Amino acid sequence: MRAIHLLFSLIIFILFAFSNISFADSGGPLKPEQAAYDVTYYYLDLSIDPETQTINGSLLCQVTIINPIDVLLLDLDDVFLVTNVDISINNSDFQQTSYSHENELLEINIPEDVDTDDMISCKIYYNGAPRISQGPPWDAGFVWDTTSDGQHWLAVVCQFQGGDIWWPCKDHPSDEPDSMHISLRVPNPLVCVSNGQYLGFVDNGDNTSSYNWFVSVPINNYNVTFYAADFLLIEDEYESTIGNEIPFRFWVLPEDYETAVNYMDVFQQEFDFLEEIYGPLPFGTDKQGWAHAPYLGMEHQSIIAYGHDFTTNSWGYDYIHLHELAHEWWGNLLTAKNWADIWIHEGIATYTEALYVEYLSGMETYFNFMRLHYPGPQMNPLAPYEDMTASDAFDLLEPYNRGACTMHALRYHLGDEQFFEVLKRWAYLDPDDFGNEDGRQCRLVDTEDLKIQAELVTGVDLAPFWSVFLEKLAIHN
Ligand SMILES: [Zn+2]
Repeated sequence: MRAIHLLFSLIIFILFAFSNISFADSGGPLKPEQAAYDVTYYYLDLSIDPETQTINGSLLCQVTIINPIDVLLLDLDDVFLVTNVDISINNSDFQQTSYSHENELLEINIPEDVDTDDMISCKIYYNGAPRISQGPPWDAGFVWDTTSDGQHWLAVVCQFQGGDIWWPCKDHPSDEPDSMHISLRVPNPLVCVSNGQYLGFVDNGDNTSSYNWFVSVPINNYNVTFYAADFLLIEDEYESTIGNEIPFRFWVLPEDYETAVNYMDVFQQEFDFLEEIYGPLPFGTDKQGWAHAPYLGMEHQSIIAYGHDFTTNSWGYDYIHLHELAHEWWGNLLTAKNWADIWIHEGIATYTEALYVEYLSGMETYFNFMRLHYPGPQMNPLAPYEDMTASDAFDLLEPYNRGACTMHALRYHLGDEQFFEVLKRWAYLDPDDFGNEDGRQCRLVDTEDLKIQAELVTGVDLAPFWSVFLEKLAIHN
């Protein structure tokens, strides 16, 4: 999300200082028990009841063992009651197994010895009242909102605390499933929208319907999301710069349908600009989706949250839309494997805004934009090369403007030709391979990876630049 995060962090901090609610923050040092396995697949199957503000269902998790373990350790908020866990090893029949759930950790007993490359599937049944966000999108939790005519308008956000605030997962940015199935049951007439491809809905005959979605590519856990309302759908097909057809889908509240239809030109222009400078939309098979959200915005993969009232700013663009859409490349295609590298997401997304301002209004306006985003002296390195949790990284590093200014400096260090080539190669490593259909371009990276890739593209030794702007020196003058 966006730079006003700091102000909201302060508000949230004050709220929670008085409410004494504990948080399980995403990331930090990877626990050895979680380094010992690789998640390959999640299947989330939930009923969402806005009347009782509860959820009820199951999560199937498939992992490959890297180092032998006797316990499968997942994260899950303590507000939930886990009622049963079934386990299967190497596709054997599922059997019930024991578990413990405390301190926001779910420890599942593996009943027999497992070795490297063994596969474990676990099905966890749970229910409860998820925490409620005190200030979406910055504060993690459910949003149980209503529209102007009193209809339910539901959503969830969890960037800093991670997916474990609503489903059991390995809450660390260094691991993503290869794919994910999401099935969500909501009361009629709500339409429930999520990440990935729409597989259809089933009317359950009890005044609820289940909406099914399949994410065919890797996805980070805080991007897994849903929106439910009495949505109308705006549909289009877009021919990507590499020729494949991408479904454009915008689920919008009925009262704003006409406004949204007319506003699609703004989305389209910003989308075209991003494909031009970074390569094709990375998730061409799934979709380019937007959902009308009861909060400002968030970069939820293939279903961007949009709640910015269809407004452009004085620079002439919709900063929420452009920023969140830029995260499809910087955050979702390329994902920082450690929150300490969050400038890769937020710095480049913010710098994308500068590039768009330049595209719209020229270099002088670009320079004005950069001057206004100068971050001032800082006490911490932008990329500290250490393990950090999400909240620490956002609060201590100020990745938005510092990241953008570092990109600005790198541009003038390398010159335009090499700099823009580096951006393209960071997004798509192989200049002859812009495949965006099967997720093969999705990568987990850190600051050092980007340095090495930039050096390969340019032939320039970037160690001095990295040392000054990213790794060591804290003060930017
Ligand atoms: Zn952002």
